[in-house]
This record gives sequence, C-alpha cells and structure tokens, in this order.
Amino acid sequence: MEDYGISYWSSNDFFIDEGVVKINSGSKPALIKIVKDAREKGYKGPLLLRFPHLIAKQVDKLFYSFEKSMQEYKYEGKFHAVFPLKVNQMPHFVLPLMESSTHKSYGLEAGSKSELIVAMAYTNKNAPITVNGFKDKEMIHLGFIAANMGHSITLTIEGLNELETIIAVAKEMGKPYPNIGLRIRLHSTGTGVWAKSGGINSKFGLTSTELLEAISLLEKSKLLHKFTMIHFHIGSQISDISPLKKAIREVGNIYAELRKMGAKNLTSVNIGGGLAVEYTQHQGNYNCNYTLSEFSGDVVFSLKEIAKNKKEKEPDIFIESGRFISANHAVLVAPVLELFSQEYDEKALKLKEKNPPLIAEMLDLYQTVSEKNAIEYLHDSLDHMESLLTLFDLGYIDLQDRSNTEVLVHLIIKKVIKLLKHKNHNEIIRIQEQVQERYLLNCSFFQSLPDYWGLGQNFPVMPLDRLNKKPTRSASLWDITCDSDGEIAFDSTKPLYLHDVDVTKEEYFLGFFLVGAYQEVLGMRHNLFTHPTEFSVVLNDKGYEIVNLLEAQNVLDVLDDLDYDTKEIERRLKHRIDDSALLDEDRKKEILGQLYIMMSENGYLRTIRHGEKE
Ligand SMILES: *Cc1c(COP(=O)(O)O)cnc(C)c1O
Repeated sequence: MEDYGISYWSSNDFFIDEGVVKINSGSKPALIKIVKDAREKGYKGPLLLRFPHLIAKQVDKLFYSFEKSMQEYKYEGKFHAVFPLKVNQMPHFVLPLMESSTHKSYGLEAGSKSELIVAMAYTNKNAPITVNGFKDKEMIHLGFIAANMGHSITLTIEGLNELETIIAVAKEMGKPYPNIGLRIRLHSTGTGVWAKSGGINSKFGLTSTELLEAISLLEKSKLLHKFTMIHFHIGSQISDISPLKKAIREVGNIYAELRKMGAKNLTSVNIGGGLAVEYTQHQGNYNCNYTLSEFSGDVVFSLKEIAKNKKEKEPDIFIESGRFISANHAVLVAPVLELFSQEYDEKALKLKEKNPPLIAEMLDLYQTVSEKNAIEYLHDSLDHMESLLTLFDLGYIDLQDRSNTEVLVHLIIKKVIKLLKHKNHNEIIRIQEQVQERYLLNCSFFQSLPDYWGLGQNFPVMPLDRLNKKPTRSASLWDITCDSDGEIAFDSTKPLYLHDVDVTKEEYFLGFFLVGAYQEVLGMRHNLFTHPTEFSVVLNDKGYEIVNLLEAQNVLDVLDDLDYDTKEIERRLKHRIDDSALLDEDRKKEILGQLYIMMSENGYLRTIRHGEKE
C-alpha cells in the first residue's frame, strides 16, 4: 500500500488509519472530515488549515532538546530562541506561537520596520527581540523605543555604518539603550540553495577587520557595555551538519577573543536559523542528515569546549530557527477538479460504419486485451496512435478518426492499468512514465507553493482518503493558473501515484504538507488568484473547533488591492449593461444581479464539468 512516505516527513504529526490521513492529537480526527465540514459551510476552493498544537509541539521540541543537551554537558549558559518573522508573519500563526511559549524565553526576530512593530506588540514580557537586516536611522530609533518599553531588544549590526547610526541615535535619545549585536562574516559557508546567507562573500556581516573597528568605535562612544551578542546565520535548510559545526567553532573562537579584548558583557552567541525540515517522501532522498538532538548536542558541546580551552564563560545560546518551528503547522488542501483523461470514456467514442484499418485494430486491442497480453497490446496501441497521428498530418484521416484514436488509446491505457494493478514489475512502472494522468487542482501554486515555483522545493503531497486502495495513475499536477509553470510534473525518480477517481461523481482532495514556512507572504497573486480560505483547527478530546477563519478575498477586494477604483468598475459595468441594445429591462436587472454575485465571490473555480458545483 502506498503511504506517501508519511513516516519520513510527518514526525508523527499525521498518520494513516482506516484509509484516511488523521491528525495525531486529541480525538485524532481525519483531515478529510474537517475539510468536508468546511465545504459544507460553503468554503469551496483551496483551504489552508493551521494546527496550533503543532506550533506548540515544535517550540517544546526545540527547548527540550537544547535544555537536555545543556544538562547533559553541565552547560552553564542559558538557552533562548526567537522566531524570525520573515518566515511567517501571519497573525494566526504568530499569536498562537507567542501564546504557546509564555513560560519560555522565546521571542521574535524582526528584519524590517513592519516586522519590528509586530515584535514590539506581541513578544511576551521578558522574552528577547532581535533585529537583523539593513537598518536606517528610523529603524534604529524604533529599536530604542522598544528598549524604552522595557523590551529586551538586541540590534544586530550588519555593517559599520549602522553602528555609527546607533551611536548617533544613542546621543539623541539617551538611555535606556538597546543591546547591540554584531553579525560575523564567517569564512565557512552553508549548503544548498539558501547558502548565500553565510560565507565570506555573503550579503551580511562584519569581517575580522571590521569587527576590531566596531569594538574600538563602541569603546570610544562608551557603548561597549551594551555589546552583548555575536550572531551568524549560514542559510536556511542546513542539510548537512558539518558546515554548521565549522561555523560554531569559528564563531566560538571569535566570541572568546572579543571577550579577551574587553567585551565583558558579550555573553551570547546567536547561531541563526537553518534547522532543516525533512520534506522527502522517498526513501534515500533525505533533505537532512542529522537529528535535532544531534544538532543541539553539537552546538552545546562545541561552545563548551571552546569556552573551556580559552578559559571564558560559557555563552548563552540564541537560536533563530523559523522553518523548523513553522513548516509543519499548515496544510494546504486542494480539491481535484478534473482528471485529464476523464473525457475519454466509451461514450466519447464515435466510431464510423467503416473505420481506418488501424483504428479497427485498436478497437480489437481494446476489446481483447487481457492480463497476459496487456503490455504487448499497450505497446501496439501506442505505436498505432503514432501512425494514426502521422496519417492525420498527411491528410489521410479526418478529425473524427483522430478523436477516436485519442479515446481508444486512453481506454486501452486505463484497462491495462486496471488489469495489472496488482503487479509491481518494472515494465508497469516504465509504462506509467509514458502514460501519466494529469490532475487539475483548484489552487494556484504561485499563490500557495511559491518555493516550488521559485526554487524547485518539493512539498509532501498525498490524497486525504482512499489510502487503503492502491493508487494506479502516475500523476502530474496542474493548477488553475493559465501559466505552464503551474505544473508539478511527474518525476520518475520521485514518482507520485494517485487514484483513478471519477471526480464528476466523487470528491478527491490532495493535501500539501509542511507549507507553514515562507509560502504565505511569498505567495503571489498571479492571474489574480488570492490566498486560500484559511482557518485554525483546535483539537480537544471530543473533537475539534474551527477558529480564526479568514475567507479568500473576493474578486472586487483583489482588484481594490491593486488600486483599481472598484466603485468605478461597478459603475462602468452597470453602464455597459444599461447601454446594451441586446437586453430588455428585466434581463438587464437579472444580468446585473448575476454580475454582482460573481464579484462578491472569490476567483477560484466553483463549477466543474457537467454543471456540478465545486
Ligand atoms: C531567514 C533567517 C532565519 C531563519 O532561517 P530558517 O531557515 O527559517 O530557520 C534566521 N536568521 C536570520 C538572520 C535569517 O535571515
């Protein structure tokens, strides 16, 4: 039975039972049940489900692992963490995140003024705020305001000019000052697509020479006592732990050296983010070669060793992992609108009294194909199809013949797959590559999986039910944008098999998992598809509750966001109808009413073929 690699990627957040995906918490409800409930309430199109208990689970895991490593090595520094807001700024993620960590030293990291405002409003009392990224005078000013509110805030300096600005603002504003962090430009680098954040050519951080200059600037302006943290970030999704270990040794030694130079309040090392998430659905294809406990153990052990060797205090450890904390909390559910080959059923076959010989032969293949000759007949029919298409190009057969060819070849493929579905030999797998089914999904990959489009990032995907039936179709997935990049093509090295479902009669839903990091704000409104309808699912022992529902934007709201004057749009459309010579007064009213309804709904598809409502 196909389990879609759930044991590799789900960390027991989800499991398969009785043929459906269930949530491994509380009363363990099935995802499909929650989806159907929401659809009954009228929320059609794609849905984004958030699970607050999974947010809390990740925070707990992170703290547990580091605290355990610290106990194990009798480490004397403390553990703190911040969530980098750029990974997910949505209120229905950030608020539960802060709620689930009230008793921990867990705060927020901001990289822009807007993010800093969120951090200042929502970081728990006494929890840390860190500020990274490029900063102008206003942003630094904002940091001073946060310090005045009583926040424990650290401004991490990316370049000497920022330090000069801090010194200037400190003169203007006076005390209390925020803490100052310095970002180190490492000579060791990260790995993978996101490696640009670390390394000597990285966009961020101070070289050794600049570090020395920074210390002397701080000393001169009597701010050295506010210098408390050094920081690095080698990039997102660290797949291999060895570059991280190297970076820790580098930064640990810099920490010790700076303390020896007189930076006595330098007590923290911030190791940035980058903890990887396992996205793979296929054995041997892993994204990550370490466990969380190995990661925390390595960090704690390395820093302890360096402190011991250099006879310095063991630093507090800050971590800024975002992907690890947020990825698993959100699931995108997309209804399947259509299987491409569905139109090729027997009803579509319009055979003539007299058919071209090859078509007659294909019909015979279709009628007589059996388990024994299935592969051979399939090959023959694919050959015949090629020949018939050539005959059409040369003008020897007509459009009806060509249509019959297409229908017959699809009928044969389906019959062969059905006949052989209990077998598993290579030949079938090879054939599956040639004869894929295209599944049309009611969602936009540009809006909901932008990292797939931009970086080729794969997200685990699986049907929400029928998991006790063998999926027989090799699948490529198509979204409803009219962009040919909105396709997740079948990849024989990482094959996806789905069920052959007649979606005109039954519903079929695919879930994309681990979409809670980076995807939402990065998502774009290509073709003006808005964000999906989203809600949070709060589980309890009896069932679940749907909260924080945010509906997909309607057509007019989307246009309003682009700065169209929607009142003007409504006026213009009304005039056009009023002026139409084709309509009488009653018809005008009717059509105007229909138009208003459509503009007040979201732009995802509602009607599928044969007039059913999605
Ligand atoms: C993006 C970023 C992070 C978060 O990285 P993840 O891979 O999501 O953990 C942490 N720190 C800094 C400075 C960043 O820019």
